[in-house]
Formats: sequence, structure tokens, C-alpha cells
Amino acid sequence: MGVRARGPRPVAGNRRRGRLTVPDGPARRITGYDRDDKGHWVALLDCGHRQHLRHNPPWTNRPWVLTEDGRARHVGERLRCRRCLEEDC
Ligand SMILES: [Zn+2]
Repeated sequence: MGVRARGPRPVAGNRRRGRLTVPDGPARRITGYDRDDKGHWVALLDCGHRQHLRHNPPWTNRPWVLTEDGRARHVGERLRCRRCLEEDC
């Protein structure tokens, strides 16, 4: 007895445990912007969905959403739309 190691540990990055692996969804283009009730910016995607553009450093760093020029430059950029996966379309 006294077995210390129980074989190789799972490698980091190999976390395919059930629903932990969330697919990112298909890439959709930003067609425009809107704001929600709280004044947060929302991207309008060409699939018809909306996606919040959070500027919440250091987690989400999108200083460009705060300026009109920055937003204009990101029209046409692709975002992963998870809602396309959640809804059937
Ligand atoms: Zn979508």
C-alpha cells in the first residue's frame, strides 16, 4: 500500500468535463450599436442578436466602445455570438 501517485494527473487545458466546454458560437459581424437602459453599449450583430460590449478592465478591456470613433472603427468586426447556439437558427 502507500501509493502516493495515482497515475498521471489530467493536463491543464484538457478540461472536457461535461458542459464546462462552452462553444464560442459562430462569428458574427457588428452592424451597429445600441445602448441598454443603463447606458451600456450593445453591439448589433448581423445575425439579429445583440451582445453587450463590456468595458470592465482588466477582464474585458474595450476602451474603444466608449468613443464614437472607436465604435465606428469596429463596425464589421466579428464577435462570437453564443446566442446563435442557444437558439435554433
Ligand atoms: Zn446570433
